Amino acid sequence: MGKTEVQQDTYLVGLGVSPGIGIGRVCLLNRLSSIAEWTIDEDEIEIEIQRFRHALTEAASQLREVKQNISRQPHLREHIYILDTHLLILEDELLTERTEVLIRQKINAESALDQTLKQLRVMFETIEDEYLRERSSDLDAVGQRLQRILAGVNDATLEQIEEKSLVAAHDLSPADTMQLDKNKVVGFLTDRGGKTSHTAILARSLGIPAVVGLESATVIVDNAMPAIIDGSTGVVILNPSEETFKEYLKRKLAFEYLEKELTSYRDLPAETSDHVEVALRTNLELLSEVPAALNDGAVGIGLYRTEFLYMNRNEPPGEAEQFDTYSKIVQRLAPHPVTIRTLDAGGDKFIADMSLEHEDNPAMGLRAVRFSLREVDLFKTQLRAILRASAMGQVRIMFPMISGVAEIRTCKRILRSVKNELEQEGILFDPQIKVGIMIETPSAVIIASLLAKEVDFFSIGTNDLIQYCLAVDRGNEHVAYLYEPLHPAILRALKQVCDAAHEADIEVGMCGEMAAEPLYVPVLLGLGLNELSMNHACIPRVKRVLRNLTRVEGVELLNQLLQLSTGKEIATYIEREMRRRLPDLFGDFVI
Ligand code: PEP
Ligand code: MG
Repeated sequence: MGKTEVQQDTYLVGLGVSPGIGIGRVCLLNRLSSIAEWTIDEDEIEIEIQRFRHALTEAASQLREVKQNISRQPHLREHIYILDTHLLILEDELLTERTEVLIRQKINAESALDQTLKQLRVMFETIEDEYLRERSSDLDAVGQRLQRILAGVNDATLEQIEEKSLVAAHDLSPADTMQLDKNKVVGFLTDRGGKTSHTAILARSLGIPAVVGLESATVIVDNAMPAIIDGSTGVVILNPSEETFKEYLKRKLAFEYLEKELTSYRDLPAETSDHVEVALRTNLELLSEVPAALNDGAVGIGLYRTEFLYMNRNEPPGEAEQFDTYSKIVQRLAPHPVTIRTLDAGGDKFIADMSLEHEDNPAMGLRAVRFSLREVDLFKTQLRAILRASAMGQVRIMFPMISGVAEIRTCKRILRSVKNELEQEGILFDPQIKVGIMIETPSAVIIASLLAKEVDFFSIGTNDLIQYCLAVDRGNEHVAYLYEPLHPAILRALKQVCDAAHEADIEVGMCGEMAAEPLYVPVLLGLGLNELSMNHACIPRVKRVLRNLTRVEGVELLNQLLQLSTGKEIATYIEREMRRRLPDLFGDFVI
């Protein structure tokens, strides 16, 4: 079936998951458009089953080969677990036995496999958890691979990619993404995918601009079609006019220029022009982000989200594995501190096989530290691993979602008992390890002065704090307009927490997304935050603004903002002020 003609400047909008602009020609990855279907005779059943089993073996050997290739590339090594997931799917009886049962009902292998995949996909789609639901793309990737083998289609398309290609695929599997040659692929776009899909995670690790979730882009685009993608805004433009092309070329150059220019900030101190230092640290999900974080000038980790270590697997990681990962991170970041947050499971972060029952209101349910305090053995295992890693460098422990003093006291009691155990076993750890909490519940704000007496530091998790303070689900697009970081209630809450921390003479930082917004830097300065922790790519931009302001300016501006009544008024005021004070940074080209 031919494609309909695509008009000049056809805009598609998806989810920008990896920033940057890609300009090139579409390379539509080979996808089987239809599955052959026929009835087989009784005496063909065994032959067909053998054909299916051969496809399974061949797929496994292809995956092992990819695994071997990527294990030679250190920055990708961590993603080998995705290939392991695919290998496990190939062995899964749900897939193999169901397909064979259908073949025994005289259905050919391709069609039997297709029907099995459809049934499994339905099972996946009913899963509420977004993260797990997105894992159905792993199933699709395996299915595609098997279908290609059954149809005798060579998996060579990736090698055929030419320079300046914008790879378009219904769903690019993580295994395929890992093989993309950065010198040839200037971006990719997919019909499927969300922000937490493996493919999105990989795109960011690789620094390839990407737009996902376009729904039906591959039905519209065709091979060699000129196109532009903007991985920051999620915009894809097909058949761009000369004018659009020039405009985006300009934006691409500006983006690249800024990226380059910003690397010059790496070694400059993160301090205001009146010499007030603020530690700019990174939030970390994956070990593979460490080199890029260091390259962007992160002076340590302000939030290590350990829950990612527990995902995509049936069993939680044991002490040895956790110790291995934590100590690697600590050693690579030395001499800077690493704040390891204990497991923040539950809510929207589903962890398999951890007795997390279905909850009607998971955001307010058994998540984070509440879960750890119920599963004490699991909690102790993690604390042992963190403590042991503290012998290798500067480690700090942070407990998530604390809502009262009793909770943190229980955490500290368990920590003490784990320390005693280690001591008795003669295992080294830092006895002075700093203990902190995330401030992300309204109750923690209200009793901040009580909590400050219990810990060495606070880190404000604005992502959750905003959702709980304003009663706005952080993931619900229908109420997104109410999710206002500059809401007067939030500014007041932040001020109350910082004042309580200063009063008790403990450190206070911020690790929610609010810390990464250059426009908010004067507010953060005015609050007197000691540390800002963010996605590493944002560090140079925040540092640039910081170096152009004084702490006094921040305090003055914050005081003015605290007089205003609505989030909109506050946002307008701050934008106007920043444009006036720093026209180079906040003029037309808002960074
Ligand atoms: C937060 O809530 O602001 C935070 C940093 O934690 P997470 O986004 O992991 O919930
Ligand atoms: Mg949180």
